[in-house]
Amino acid sequence: MLNKNQVYTATITDYTSQGQGVAHVEGCAVFIPYAIYGEVCEIRLTKVAKTWAAGKIEKILQVSPHRVNRACPLGKRCGGCAFQHMDYEEECRLKSERIRGALNRIGGQNLDQVPLLPAPSTACYRNKAQYAVGMHKTKVVAGFYQEGSHDVVVSNRCLILPPEMDLVRDAVTDYMNQYRVSAYNEQTHKGLVRHIYVRKGWISGQILVCLVINGNRLSKPQPLIERLQKIPGFATLVLSVNKKPGNSILGDTFHTLYGPGWIEDTLCGMTFRLSPRSFYQVNHPQAEKLYEMAIGQAEIQKTDTVLDLYCGVGTITLAMAKAAGKVIGVELEPQAVEDARDNAMRNGVDNVEFFCADAGTAALELQARGLTPDVVVVDPPRKGLSQDVIDSVDKMNPRKLVYVSCDPATLARDVALLKEKGFVLRTAQAADLFPRTAHVETIVLLSK
Ligand code: SAH
Repeated sequence: MLNKNQVYTATITDYTSQGQGVAHVEGCAVFIPYAIYGEVCEIRLTKVAKTWAAGKIEKILQVSPHRVNRACPLGKRCGGCAFQHMDYEEECRLKSERIRGALNRIGGQNLDQVPLLPAPSTACYRNKAQYAVGMHKTKVVAGFYQEGSHDVVVSNRCLILPPEMDLVRDAVTDYMNQYRVSAYNEQTHKGLVRHIYVRKGWISGQILVCLVINGNRLSKPQPLIERLQKIPGFATLVLSVNKKPGNSILGDTFHTLYGPGWIEDTLCGMTFRLSPRSFYQVNHPQAEKLYEMAIGQAEIQKTDTVLDLYCGVGTITLAMAKAAGKVIGVELEPQAVEDARDNAMRNGVDNVEFFCADAGTAALELQARGLTPDVVVVDPPRKGLSQDVIDSVDKMNPRKLVYVSCDPATLARDVALLKEKGFVLRTAQAADLFPRTAHVETIVLLSK
């Protein structure tokens, strides 16, 4: 029996999916934040449950050669990055191992390794930031939530964001402090500004600023616009009305205060219009590599019909349309579908069609109407595929199924379900789109 608050000595032998170190003490798994594989540590137990325990490092007796000084002073407090304490080599190794482990253990595979493409840079790579707005004493501040809480921590420079994002944050908080615009308070549900959402077009340099407000309007927007205009690339300012309590950031109603309400960017040689609610991969160079991998694996022929489920603004859809006979995209978010249709037009692509629907519902209907795509691409959010999608894709009998995933655990679950339907996993590869954080993308190719 382990005792809380007692100190034990143990070797770190694994990582959790969040990137915490795992050690075994008296047969019990202990999760230890910021511990690195191979390290021998004195661990003080902070919680003891029936089958697991949590602990924190008291002293590292044997330090991993992969341990580094945190480049970010907030590395331990801010909930954004998980791996500021280790080098990038170890981060890539653990991400690839995590995918291999999940696919083998949950997905019923027997893979020796999953190759992972490291990002060319671990700094300033994110093209989107969502700052939470809060109060520190009487001052409005904006930053990120502390690990495991909704306390706002502020860093002068977030190292994974381009510097313009922090300039936007400062312009907004400065404006709010000067014009006494209130910050939203989650407890009382009072106050106006909840989040500052910023997106930057990687190639275009255009910046979209969206203020998420618990109200309908901003009484004096002009001084804010003037401040933002000093930031290179500022292209548009939008308000998003979100009066609902809870963790969703953007609301459904938008008011454009400056510019067109969206920005453009170039990806895979095409131009894309991006509205605030539309999904767009946050790491531009790696997204291009990811799409190249997906397209390469699909081996599309000129006569092929491709079904692209969870298509967003049509990035994969349009890239595949060049090689295919026809591509059908399905996406739930109306703003993204509007963008996707516009994107097809602006790139002169006419062999695509987009449906605004739930992927499962649309797949059932398209399959019932007799659609037999040669290739199906799925790129679902973290929760993975619904059973409807799996059943319909099975009945459609595509030559190839390309699964792009942002969560190894749900990918592995779906690979197991697809295996029951006769789909064999042919290749698995990964790309790191989220350096320093616990997230990673995987692409698998399946066929019957
Ligand atoms: N393939 C696109 C988008 C992938 S992100 C790209 O690479 O850019 C996942 C997308 O799935 C998001 O655009 C999200 O809005 C959409 N989505 C989420 N749930 C969905 C559902 N049930 N049915 C269809 N699309 C859904």
